[in-house]
Amino acid sequence: MLFDHCAQCQRCCNVDAGFPPLEITLTAKEQKKLGSVCIETSCTHLGPKGCTMGENKPFGCTLYPLSYNPNNKSFYFDTDCPLMDDYFDSLSIKDSDANQHLSKVNEIIVQLEKTDPTFLQTNHEVDVSYFDLKRVPAVHFTPKQKIKKSKL
Ligand code: SF4
Ligand code: SF4
Repeated sequence: MLFDHCAQCQRCCNVDAGFPPLEITLTAKEQKKLGSVCIETSCTHLGPKGCTMGENKPFGCTLYPLSYNPNNKSFYFDTDCPLMDDYFDSLSIKDSDANQHLSKVNEIIVQLEKTDPTFLQTNHEVDVSYFDLKRVPAVHFTPKQKIKKSKL
């Protein structure tokens, strides 16, 4: 499974020495529930086998290693995540982990465009300042995903 590697990697739940703390951008709903999630060196929600929050983790974490730019309605990928090549390669395979991940975050983004556009804009600005991003090539979208994406 593509994301099985995360339990071992844990890179995106830690901040390397010398880098500023990373405040995870939260949706308005998440802010009410969680207050804030800030990674000084290692996220307080990180356990030995990975994130302990399961399905309740912040959407910004679920979205990662993708980033979404609401201005051009496009997805980007953090080039420092070692899964990038495998993610791109398997994106067009129906029901692959990458395909399911993109479909899931895409559906949530469609909702957030209506309910919390401020989150999407802020999350995009944080991602741009913190990560080296590569645009997800359109060629990797299946026809069904292309339709969804064009509606964003
Ligand atoms: S950097 Fe990529 S592989 Fe590593 S934990 Fe994060 S999502 Fe998983
Ligand atoms: S909430 Fe979970 S996925 Fe997000 S940074 Fe913390 S440990 Fe990682």
